[in-house]
Amino acid sequence: TKAALKKAKNSQSEINAYITLNEENALKHAAELDAKGIDFQNILSGIPFAIKDNLVTKGLRTTAASHILDNFVPVYDAAVIEKLTSLGAITIGKTNMDEFAMGGSTETSYFGKTANAWDHTKVPGGSSGGSASAVASGIVPVALGSDTGGSIRQPAAFNGIVGLKPTYGRVSRWGLIAFGSSLDQIGPFTRTVKDNARVLSAIAGKDQRDTTSEDQAVPDFTKGIEAGVKGLRIGVPKEYFAAGIDEGVKKVIKQVIAKFESLGAEVDEVSLPHSKYGIAAYYILASSEASSNLQRFDGIRYGFSARKEGETLEDLYVQTRSEGFGAEVKRRIMLGTFALSAGFYDAYFKKGAQVRTLIIQDFAKVFKDHDVILGPTTTSTAFDLGSENDDPVKMYMNDLLTIPVNLAGLPGMSLNAGFSDGLPVGLQIIGKPFDESTIYQTAYAFE
Ligand code: GLN
Repeated sequence: TKAALKKAKNSQSEINAYITLNEENALKHAAELDAKGIDFQNILSGIPFAIKDNLVTKGLRTTAASHILDNFVPVYDAAVIEKLTSLGAITIGKTNMDEFAMGGSTETSYFGKTANAWDHTKVPGGSSGGSASAVASGIVPVALGSDTGGSIRQPAAFNGIVGLKPTYGRVSRWGLIAFGSSLDQIGPFTRTVKDNARVLSAIAGKDQRDTTSEDQAVPDFTKGIEAGVKGLRIGVPKEYFAAGIDEGVKKVIKQVIAKFESLGAEVDEVSLPHSKYGIAAYYILASSEASSNLQRFDGIRYGFSARKEGETLEDLYVQTRSEGFGAEVKRRIMLGTFALSAGFYDAYFKKGAQVRTLIIQDFAKVFKDHDVILGPTTTSTAFDLGSENDDPVKMYMNDLLTIPVNLAGLPGMSLNAGFSDGLPVGLQIIGKPFDESTIYQTAYAFE
């Protein structure tokens, strides 16, 4: 814990992976564990964790990287934090992210940008960029992130580490500051596949406080991980190698797929014909949900308030939200409010929901006779800091290959596949609902 805190502090000026460090309490927690003696039954005991700053932590400032929450100190722990803490994991700090997890580069944070672990002039990806960069930089072995449209897998790809978005419903979202509630999932970043499986085993499971969490058996995800890929049926979607995907990325992923064939997997080409409409549907649906979820930030209940003498209630709302939210968050709130408004609902939200169903059906069809789907995680490697800031559509296009997975609620992982021009390339492994085990097994055979 001491070493992790020291590394975290020393790296701040270069990487800026953290918004808040939990120094005093982390050391206290570690000393308590030391006094009790090592718990050999429990592999996570004493392990320093970094936590994305949209997961609420009792007594520890939680901002979602927004000015509107920059003085917010929660009174309870998120379900995942409760679980990890009870196993002896130590929260060393809260990591930087795009404001309210809206973005793909960790550049929309109120607390400044985070740098990519491999090249400090590049973005770490987003929105969980701080968590990914902290793990890839060797500050902590594990961090938690959240993924609504790619926010675990894309930063994992850009930083060359393992990031898993579990099946929707696998992990309780209780205490996750909501963005798109029908899409959000919490998942682990680690440097190895086995560590990732260990953390998922610890955080998964039904929770009465999140009615969308499912009552599915939680296996020990490390069990059977060494089984190999002989006979595994792998589908490779042709759309994931279409125009617009960087040639260097394609080359690395094709080599990986050939490796899987040489290990005895059966590989064939499949099609996800509606995946190209994923981004359009996602920005309607996710923004609609966000516009509703973010109504609670009104200057009264949480954090920052622009309260002044003699103002009307409406002035207070307008002033607080105008000052408190950044530009990207406002864009989403406006987009979502418009899409949900009377007269436009059928044209936008309903259409988006219909497209979502088509995407779900595409995957279901492929999974009838395949065990996993493989392809690149991202359309390119990490781009330059500042290069896509003024072009939201370009930024949105980065998630072409991850968004369909959220829309279908499926589990998906990114792990390092190799390098293109010195930057990490992510291999995406998509699984059947609640079949994270096969994803881990596939990943482990390659790692
Ligand atoms: N980049 C996508 C967005 O901006 C995904 C974000 C996420 O998964 N939280 O919405």
